[in-house]
Amino acid sequence: MSDVKDAIDARYSRHCRLPELGRSGQERLLSSRILIVGCGALGAAIASLAARAGVGSLRIVDRDFVDLSNLQRQALFDEDDVAERLPKAEAAKRKLARINSSIALDAIVADAGPDNIEEFIRDVDLVLDGTDNAETRYVINDACLKRGIPWIYGGVVGVRGLVMSIMPAAGPCFRCLYPEPPAPGNMPTCDTLGVLATVPSLVAALQTTEALKILTGATPAPGVLSVDPWQMQFQAIDLKRRDDCPACVRREYAFLDQGGTSRALRLCGRDMVQISPPEPTHIDLEALQRTLAAVGRVSNNGYLLDFMADDCELVVFRDGRVLVKGISDLSVARALYARYLGA
Ligand SMILES: [Zn+2]
Repeated sequence: MSDVKDAIDARYSRHCRLPELGRSGQERLLSSRILIVGCGALGAAIASLAARAGVGSLRIVDRDFVDLSNLQRQALFDEDDVAERLPKAEAAKRKLARINSSIALDAIVADAGPDNIEEFIRDVDLVLDGTDNAETRYVINDACLKRGIPWIYGGVVGVRGLVMSIMPAAGPCFRCLYPEPPAPGNMPTCDTLGVLATVPSLVAALQTTEALKILTGATPAPGVLSVDPWQMQFQAIDLKRRDDCPACVRREYAFLDQGGTSRALRLCGRDMVQISPPEPTHIDLEALQRTLAAVGRVSNNGYLLDFMADDCELVVFRDGRVLVKGISDLSVARALYARYLGA
């Protein structure tokens, strides 16, 4: 037992000295389990901080693979990951295992949505938002409220960011902040506005701080924090629970209950469309490689298959999702999916 205590003191001495945490706080972190949804700029920075801070178990879910344009801001990835076309969840797991080999790491290459989110959160103490879209956040909000799990929203676009801790029992929730999803095209994205490299790191640090507080029993900050590091302005925004909030007051989980249809959506920050299968599935990448080799150039790294034909590029994941590159029209992407995957 003293060996365990010595090991904690050695690795986490700076935390153990902090009155806010101490050894007992560190021990609570080591016995905590978190889920990070999305491992782009926010998620990668959160994962790095949480792993170094000694959160005992990290589950990371991400649907994408590492692309050259990610390296401008996504802390865990490097040029080797781009060359290997590794899924972000897997690339993150490999890095995190070298950062802290004493914690449990679970990498899941999937698109978190209404069909699978409850499985991903079933055994965690807290959820951190590393996503890049409102749709997934509404699903996380519903699932976490339903299961009574705190979650921490983080959003970045341009030179600004937002952070909010959502405590299911107390509220307010994400739908108290944004009652309904924005109409397509009405929400500025990293795609249209860009994003300053430092903003995700800042927001991720604030989100992770809130996580460390909640996991060790401290009180999270109320309301919403808006940050603009370009102007060096931080603003705390008061937010109350809405009396008629469908999610945290009426406990109606519309976004969680909408599963089961195939989905096509444009991915933030990339000229790319993702098509998801209507049902959970598993694709034999080697068999698909043999089939597609007759009609185009194809390669397979065990996690995903790349296929090029007719001026288009498709990336097929084992869970049946397909990314159609160089295309922003959803119907064209669906047609290519149907042509080459026959669904
Ligand atoms: Zn609410």
